[in-house]
Amino acid sequence: MDLSPLTLDELTATGAHRKGHFRLSSGLHSGDYLQCALYLAEPVRAARAGRLIAGGLEDLGVAPELVVSPALGGVIIGHEVARALGLPFLFTERQEGVMTLRRGFAIAPGQRVVIVEDVVTTGKSTREVIQVLEEAGARVLAMASMVNRSGTANPFEPLPYHALLTVGFPVWEPESCPLCQRGVPIEKPGSRPLA
Ligand code: ZN
Repeated sequence: MDLSPLTLDELTATGAHRKGHFRLSSGLHSGDYLQCALYLAEPVRAARAGRLIAGGLEDLGVAPELVVSPALGGVIIGHEVARALGLPFLFTERQEGVMTLRRGFAIAPGQRVVIVEDVVTTGKSTREVIQVLEEAGARVLAMASMVNRSGTANPFEPLPYHALLTVGFPVWEPESCPLCQRGVPIEKPGSRPLA
C-alpha cells in the first residue's frame, strides 16, 4: 500500500478541498472548505489514511483498546484507523444538539480510547466527544485527525494529538470577512448557496 504522506494537493484533486467563500459550521467565514468525505469516497484512499493515522498514534506511544469518532464526519476514517490497529470502533452522534454515544454502544470503565476525526476546525465537537467518553468512564489517551485547520498545533493540550496534514486556512468573523466586503456570494456547504 502507498503510505506516502497525505498532501493538500491530493485533497484538492479529489474535490475534498475547495476555494470559494464558505460559512463553516462554526459560523466563521473562510475562503477554504474541506470535505474529507470526497477523499474517503475511494476505499483505497481511506485505508491509506487510516494506516497513516494508525502509524502516527503508534509514534505517540499510546496503547488504545478502542477507537471512537463523532458521526458523521469521523466515521469512515475512524473505522479505517481501527482496522489498521486491529481494534473495535464506536461512534458518537449529536441528538437534539447534545453529543452522546450512539445508542447500544457501551464503554467499559477505564477503557483506553483514542478519538479520530476527519477535520479539526475549532476542536469544539471533539472536546464534546472527550467529555462524553470520560463521563462514561473511558480514559482518553490521544486525538488524531486527517487535517488540522485549527490554527494551533494542538488544541487538545495536554492530550497528545496527531494530524496527517496541518493547514493554515484563514477564517474570519462574518463582520470582518474580506470576501463579504467584496460581495462574493457565500456558500454554506451542505445547503444551496446563500444570497
Ligand atoms: Zn464572508
